[in-house]
Amino acid sequence: RLQSLFGIVGFYRCFETKKDLDEIKKIAIQFARQNLEENRGIEFKVDTRRIDKSLPFTNQQYSAQLGEAILDAIPELKVNVRQPQWTINLELRDKAYIYGFGYMGGKGLPVGSAGRGMLLLSGGIDSPVAGFLMAKRGLKLEAVYFNTPPYTSEESLQKVKDLAAILSPWNGGIKLHVVNFTEIQMLLNKSLPEETLTLHSRASMMKIAGKLAEFHSCAALITGESLSQVASQTLESLNYTNQAVSMAVFRPCIGLDKEEIIHFSKRIKAFETSIQPFDDCCTLFSPEHPLTRPKKTEMVTQYNQLELLPDMLEKAVNEAMSFIL
Ligand code: ATP
Ligand code: MG
Repeated sequence: RLQSLFGIVGFYRCFETKKDLDEIKKIAIQFARQNLEENRGIEFKVDTRRIDKSLPFTNQQYSAQLGEAILDAIPELKVNVRQPQWTINLELRDKAYIYGFGYMGGKGLPVGSAGRGMLLLSGGIDSPVAGFLMAKRGLKLEAVYFNTPPYTSEESLQKVKDLAAILSPWNGGIKLHVVNFTEIQMLLNKSLPEETLTLHSRASMMKIAGKLAEFHSCAALITGESLSQVASQTLESLNYTNQAVSMAVFRPCIGLDKEEIIHFSKRIKAFETSIQPFDDCCTLFSPEHPLTRPKKTEMVTQYNQLELLPDMLEKAVNEAMSFIL
């Protein structure tokens, strides 16, 4: 659990004992034996910090005695004070504390310390990674998924819930809002030119996510977009979808190649779930020849002509269903 907790650089398993040299030696030898068994190398050193100054020996003397005891017990080990492969640490305070091999924590900043953000979570590879990267920088995430039943299946929704559950331990739990997007998608499909559909659909998602974010005290949106990865992620396309909201939009994958995104996806063990072949609305309704260089003002005018849309957006926000994962 500590390894997936942001804000923790590293941690040790530490033994507490009396300030009795024989006791300390016994525990240090156990640590050394474990390091050898787990193939961490044979070159070691002992580091002592004596905070209790009433004790009889200096730091160096404690380290030397402990090192000698370890070598006597495990002769195949070697002392290397300059570049040890591992270190046995002894801290002498109110009691003696001994610790050996360290583990890496989640690094980053404690979740929530940077504020709150709303992640647009689709079933793909990129958005879970985007969520992970922003949680690492201290944002507490909520997530929103745009569902288009019956065009997308129950499995597609389950896949997104599974991905939210994968993010959950990194985020201290996560709330997933599921928005029914079918009615809006249908209105767009019948009213607007085919090549613009993905972009208008994405702009609508941004608007709804922005309203949900405000409602749930989130001050930023997060998406998995990566520059020029697909037609809706060119500079011109992003400039159109970006104007749909006025809050900050974080796209931590923007400068990453797919390969690099996949690296993170595997690290958080989301990859196998992300590649399950269930359709998302974006793949189902994507035009054959999507615009790659939309003209922002023309697009905005076109979008604003849909008189039924504002009420539909409002309704979608109000009827969102929430799940805690
Ligand atoms: P991903 O791998 O995250 O699905 P993608 O490469 O498939 O991304 P798009 O489908 O263009 O890219 O989506 C871009 C971003 O828009 C996603 O990363 C996600 O943040 C958001 N998004 C797209 N579809 C949905 C959806 N159905 N629900 C919630 N967010 C979505
Ligand atoms: Mg996708």
